[in-house]
Amino acid sequence: MKITGIKAYRVELPLHEGSYKWSGGNAVDVFDSTVVAITTDAGLSGYGEICPLGPAYLPAYAAGARTGIAELAPSLLGEDPTTLANLNRRMDQLLRGHPYVKSAIDMACWDILGQATGQPVATLLGGRCGDDIALYRAISQDSPANMAAKVATYRAEGYTKFQLKVGGDPDTDIERIRAAAKMLQSGDTLIADANTGWTQHQAMRVADAVRNVDVYIEQPCMRYEECLAVRQHTDRPMVLDEVIDDIMMVLRGHRDQAMDVINLKISKVGGLTKARQIRDLCLSLGIAMTIEDSWGGDIVTAAIAHLAHSTPPELLFSSTDFNSYVTVSIAEGAPQRVNGRMAASTAPGLGVQPRLEVLGNPVFTVGKH
Ligand code: MG
Repeated sequence: MKITGIKAYRVELPLHEGSYKWSGGNAVDVFDSTVVAITTDAGLSGYGEICPLGPAYLPAYAAGARTGIAELAPSLLGEDPTTLANLNRRMDQLLRGHPYVKSAIDMACWDILGQATGQPVATLLGGRCGDDIALYRAISQDSPANMAAKVATYRAEGYTKFQLKVGGDPDTDIERIRAAAKMLQSGDTLIADANTGWTQHQAMRVADAVRNVDVYIEQPCMRYEECLAVRQHTDRPMVLDEVIDDIMMVLRGHRDQAMDVINLKISKVGGLTKARQIRDLCLSLGIAMTIEDSWGGDIVTAAIAHLAHSTPPELLFSSTDFNSYVTVSIAEGAPQRVNGRMAASTAPGLGVQPRLEVLGNPVFTVGKH
């Protein structure tokens, strides 16, 4: 099979709640997502999606995704989309780094491989584990009282895992964590995600102030070394996210016992192929994972579901359903949250059919369609 054409679409994804706020005064009102369509000489088409969390979260931004995909696309015509390792090696030869640029292309090729073999991507990634998977809910940064109230709101929707966006003023963050913790019920999980927002001394203060609270601390500081220092001074379980951007960082973190859980985002590491490699390493090392992406709509949510649902539940810390946060649906067939959980599609490939009327005209087209 050969790739004969690559197209990219730009789509805006507004939020039901109007705005999503996290550390450092960062906020997004409308997400800028890119959908990639890959056509083949076998008559199959695959779809992928990449949606950075604005330009200031990871070294990734929406226009950069489209520019990078346009840079790669002409050289990928004629490549076999079903030989994923070869395809990734080719992309890495053509463009050094920029893993997020490659993610939607890799995702679309998994969609094609699934359709070509008649198997859902979750089967190709190891097979579904159980009936469905548990999701976390991110709680946008707000006053301690409002964030605590959101715990009850989201529990009513079935969620039991609550990720507070902290990483602001440490005194306010201590209040946020204590207020939210008071809302917890047996079986709930609370995560305080600072998204790199604290300095090391601020993180030390917060970790000490919440030492008697049942809470996980996620990515307290910008640098790995700062996070490690905090880790070595707190008994709270530690999640690392932003600094875990490739397999070597997983190995380094494991050697240093720097974390209990990692946050594995598909586009942060370059696509499903590389995310699966990290997922499988973490299974061998006994490191739990939240499996998700930076953000996205229906296609990203479908890809997350296939990787997460094929991960044994004992090491799947949580996952997420980004398509429920946004007001626009870009594909049919994507997972829909039921009682705080979701399941991967059992249809071949990713199991999604893009709504072409929502995607509109492509921003660029390479090859034949
Ligand atoms: Mg995080």
